[in-house]
Amino acid sequence: MSAEPRSNFLRTQIQDDLDSGRASGVITRFPPEPNGFLHIGHAKSITVNFGLAEQFGGQCHLRFDDTNPERESQEFIDSIQEDVSWLGYEWHGEVRFASSYFQQFYEWALNLIDQGLAYVCDLSPDEARVYRGTLTEPGRDSPFRSRSVPENRDLFMRMRKGEFADGSRVLRAKIDMASPNMNLRDPILYRIRHADHHQTGSEWPIYPTYDFAHGQEDAIEGITHSICTLEFEDHRPLYEWFIDNLPVPHRPRQIEFARLNTSYTVTSKRKLKQLVDEGIVDGWDDPRMPTISGLRRRGYPATAIRHFCEEVGTSRSDGTVDVAMLESAVRDDLNRHAPRAMCVMAPLRLVLTNLSQPLSLQVPNHPADASFGCRELVMDSELLIDADDFREEANKHFKRLVIGKRVRLRGGLVIEAESCDIDASGTVICVYARCVTTAPGEDPEDGVKPKGVIHWVSANHAVPATVRRYDRLFAVPDPAKAENFSEVLNANSLTTNTSAMIEPGLIAAEPETVFQFEREGYFVADRHEHCSERPVFNMTIGLRDTWSDASG
Ligand code: ATP
Ligand code: MG
Repeated sequence: MSAEPRSNFLRTQIQDDLDSGRASGVITRFPPEPNGFLHIGHAKSITVNFGLAEQFGGQCHLRFDDTNPERESQEFIDSIQEDVSWLGYEWHGEVRFASSYFQQFYEWALNLIDQGLAYVCDLSPDEARVYRGTLTEPGRDSPFRSRSVPENRDLFMRMRKGEFADGSRVLRAKIDMASPNMNLRDPILYRIRHADHHQTGSEWPIYPTYDFAHGQEDAIEGITHSICTLEFEDHRPLYEWFIDNLPVPHRPRQIEFARLNTSYTVTSKRKLKQLVDEGIVDGWDDPRMPTISGLRRRGYPATAIRHFCEEVGTSRSDGTVDVAMLESAVRDDLNRHAPRAMCVMAPLRLVLTNLSQPLSLQVPNHPADASFGCRELVMDSELLIDADDFREEANKHFKRLVIGKRVRLRGGLVIEAESCDIDASGTVICVYARCVTTAPGEDPEDGVKPKGVIHWVSANHAVPATVRRYDRLFAVPDPAKAENFSEVLNANSLTTNTSAMIEPGLIAAEPETVFQFEREGYFVADRHEHCSERPVFNMTIGLRDTWSDASG
């Protein structure tokens, strides 16, 4: 669908595996934990995994890594599926769940016990931490490490029956307490948690750790390439230890790549949850959130997000991408795909003194693409223009309406301002102008050209709308570093305008349609609230990058 994908080290390695016969096909997976909404970083992982499967004619699974029931929920499962679909991807077969392999994991844990490779440990978490050692000091063996196989079997089976209290014991792998890799210092395989699970209910009082489950899930599903982010590089020896010591049906190959981070953004689920819980934003899909559902509600096209993820490339070195790149991908996409329309943000009455009868105008919906067609707009003698587009007097740099000067009304006539009414507080409340042409597109006969073009709506036909102007949520490039959100929030990230007036055709806009409001920016009909009784538009992005303008 998009341009030829760039080459990157993942593609090269997979191609090598196919060429050498190490793999006979490509099966990838996107494995989210259902403990939050997906964000722009996940979009990168989705495009990588689904993209690779697509490029090599393979399959990509959607699998929930649901080993942590207390933090997970059906709401998150639903939103994740919706987001992946919206981004334009189709997973192979049914949605999968790590929890559907719990019985298999349990049997494999018993298998490790039988081989003398796992033991039940009764150290408290605090004690275990001391025994574990540090990055510079080796750990010490747990006093429970020498338990016999029958004793371990008995205790683990009783853990599974629910006989013991939460946290009272764990099952650990018996690897090497002196390993320089902390992940190999007898990691925990199972914890006791008497918690209900969204998929398995009350069946399991014990849950496998992510580390024990993850690689085995991939093995069960025949995943050829387990693509993950760099923080799992140190876990790879552990995953390989499991695969080497268990009768798994398949051996996946793990390849790590760098996480996508964008400036002015937080992408930790914990921090995103905090923004929601503290009411700083209006839910996970608030248009200022970097969640996929937030970007969607903001009007970011799925194609632009995919394009951005491809453009930033895939590497093995961590870094931060300027969020302006994402915004620019959105602007480029919308410039080509968004129909034009007019919305007056701060209405000022404009009376055309010599217009004898209303004009019906055919106005193009896109300046560069005739396939968008035209819409009919009525220009009558009472219009609304933006208060900022008129001044009684101004210097020559002001290319808008000034008394005695001319402008063209977008798609309509050239007018010249004659006078204005001013109220007691000194505010201009009405402008009077005469038309100096009689048909759209014409130039004035006297050769005096208009200074610019302004947008307008008909006072009699326009409809009031709520327009929410959004800006970046954070005022600083690296908000994740701040101790408190309050220090780094952009106080102007949302301004709600309830006095905007839109052209009448916009009330019928389908929710999620994005328009370029001429001279104002791109605006989307709100996915949840827009309706013909009360149109609601969200600002997607301005016409220009004002952040870079301001800093450079
Ligand atoms: P967070 O750190 O935000 O809580 P997570 O990594 O714990 O996210 P998961 O649900 O485990 O969230 O993520 C699913 C997949 O998405 C994982 O394979 C993970 O590596 C990948 N992923 C998460 N964040 C990013 C990112 N910023 N860039 C690229 N891939 C990411
Ligand atoms: Mg994770």
